Amino acid sequence: MNPRTTTSGRRVAVITGANKGVGFGIVRALCKQFDGDVILTARNVDRGQQAVADLNQEGLRPRFHQLDITDTDSVDALATFLKDNYDGLDVLVNNAAIKFRREAGVPFPRRIKETVGCNFFGTLSVTRRLWPLLRPHARVVNVTCFCISSIITEFSQDLLCQLLKPDLTMAQLELLLQDYVRKGEMGGHFRVGWPTDAEYDVSKVGVCLMSAILSREAVDDSRGDIVVNACCPGHVRTDMSRYEGSLTVDQGADTPMYLSLLPRNAARPRGQFLAERTVVKWW
Ligand code: NDP
Repeated sequence: MNPRTTTSGRRVAVITGANKGVGFGIVRALCKQFDGDVILTARNVDRGQQAVADLNQEGLRPRFHQLDITDTDSVDALATFLKDNYDGLDVLVNNAAIKFRREAGVPFPRRIKETVGCNFFGTLSVTRRLWPLLRPHARVVNVTCFCISSIITEFSQDLLCQLLKPDLTMAQLELLLQDYVRKGEMGGHFRVGWPTDAEYDVSKVGVCLMSAILSREAVDDSRGDIVVNACCPGHVRTDMSRYEGSLTVDQGADTPMYLSLLPRNAARPRGQFLAERTVVKWW
């Protein structure tokens, strides 16, 4: 059977980094509540297919597609799959991220390059590539972290003026984060106002600002009612938190789910940062 004839036009949701943790919880919840196909993506095919098999055991039927958000060929392949099979996209949850453990002893130059490369530039690359596929009423949810509200106090006033100006463009944000990585690799980033040792937190500040910029761009988009928000899942028991969080992955999925399923033409939230379904002013 030709999948084009069976699924084209059908509603579809994509979740990045969904073989475990919060992403897995979001897939599970979307399989139960979303009116369409749910695509569980993972960078590792075996881990992704195992996650699908685990959900099949619960009677849920996500589809699988490989996606490494730092690999443009992989991002292109997903875009082609969506175009060919669905000719559109209704929900994109950018959940995938990495966080190095300090005791692993990875030097800062590598940490800053890989972390910002994955969490900020990988998320941006996926969003840019899939953006043309978004249909009217699409929802884009960027999973970031409550750490942004404390790390922002460690930025210099000059940097804050640049990052928080209301008309900041994506090109300007990209240049600032490229400069952060370049200076960080040489060990001089803190001299120009960036926090000393906080590459994960800074990457998540970048994702939050990215969300606000995309939301502004969506206002003028002729497709109408494309809504972009960022959120924190809370402190969730996952590999990333070393299972120290207070929430299960299903509880962590709640706010991302709420934003994924915002009703059509909801006036708000748009371009905001949320935790526990509530808009949080983080700077
Ligand atoms: P996990 O480490 O448990 O899961 C992260 C997921 O991202 C894994 O599936 C991982 O794949 C995937 N991933 C990493 N790099 C890539 C890549 N290049 N391409 C595709 N997938 C990738 O983390 P959590 O579930 O805890 O975190 C989910 C999100 O929630 C993240 O954005 C995180 O920053 C955020 N968050 C989490 C909190 C918590 O308490 N857990 C608190 C605040 C925010 P693989 O298995 O192959 O490594």
